[in-house]
Amino acid sequence: MFTSEIICKGAQIQPADPSPPKRFTPTWCMTCGRPLETPEQSVAWNPSSSFTDWQYLQPGPCRAVCTYCAALMTKSRLTNLSKSVVSASDGAFALVKDAHLAWFFQEPPEPPFVAMFAPQSQKRPIHMFWRATPTLHRNLIHVQFSGTSLTIRRPVLEKAVVQAEKAAFLARDNGIRLTAHHPFESLTRKLNAINHGTIRANIELLACKNHELQEILTFLKTLTTGELWAMSVLCKANPEAPLREPVIIH
Ligand SMILES: [Zn+2]
Repeated sequence: MFTSEIICKGAQIQPADPSPPKRFTPTWCMTCGRPLETPEQSVAWNPSSSFTDWQYLQPGPCRAVCTYCAALMTKSRLTNLSKSVVSASDGAFALVKDAHLAWFFQEPPEPPFVAMFAPQSQKRPIHMFWRATPTLHRNLIHVQFSGTSLTIRRPVLEKAVVQAEKAAFLARDNGIRLTAHHPFESLTRKLNAINHGTIRANIELLACKNHELQEILTFLKTLTTGELWAMSVLCKANPEAPLREPVIIH
C-alpha cells in the first residue's frame, strides 16, 4: 500500500473524484509513485516550478496524481497530518505532545502506518505524507521529520534507554555530578542542536578506565538520529505517561 492509501483508509477519507488530464496516457502518481493505468485512478495536477517540493516530484508521461494523494492535498488535511501517525487499521493519532510520542515509541499502532512530525509550526502546510516511508513492522519504524526520514529500531531504543540510565549511574558512582538520566551533553527535539547526542567529555574520560562504561558508550554511539530523537522524549527526568489520542483529519 502507498502512503496516501494507508492514510485515507486509516483516517476514513474518501479518495478524490477522478479528473484525469485531457490526453491521458498510463503514468504514475507524481507524488507517491503509484502506477496510474486508467483515467479513473487519476487527477490532473500541474504545480508551478515555485512549488517548494518540486525537486521531489516524479513527473511521468502525464502530469497527474492518484485519487488518494489528491484527497489529502488540502490545507487543513496537510496541517492536521503534520504531527500525526495514521495506521490503516487502527486510525489516526496525534503526535503533538511528548506524551503522544512516548506512546508512539513504546506501543505504536498496527502497521502499516505513516508517521509524520513537523518540528515547528509552519506558516504554510508542508507536504510530508507522500515523501514518508510507510512502516511495515513495529520494530522498525519510520518517521518523516519535516524533510528528513528517521528510522527507529525499537528493540535498540528500548535497550538504549536502559543503558543510558546505567551510564549515568556509573558516572555518578564515580564522582561525576550529573542530574540527567543519560550520559549525553544534551538530547533535544531539534535534530541540529549543538551537542545533541554528544557524550559528555568527563564521562568519555571516565570510560577510559571503566570497561563497563566503555562498552555502553560504544553501543550508544551506534544509535541513529531517529533513536536519539526518541530518547530525548523517553530519557527526560520526569517522562510523561504515554497518551494514545485519536485525531480526526478533516
Ligand atoms: Zn499518489
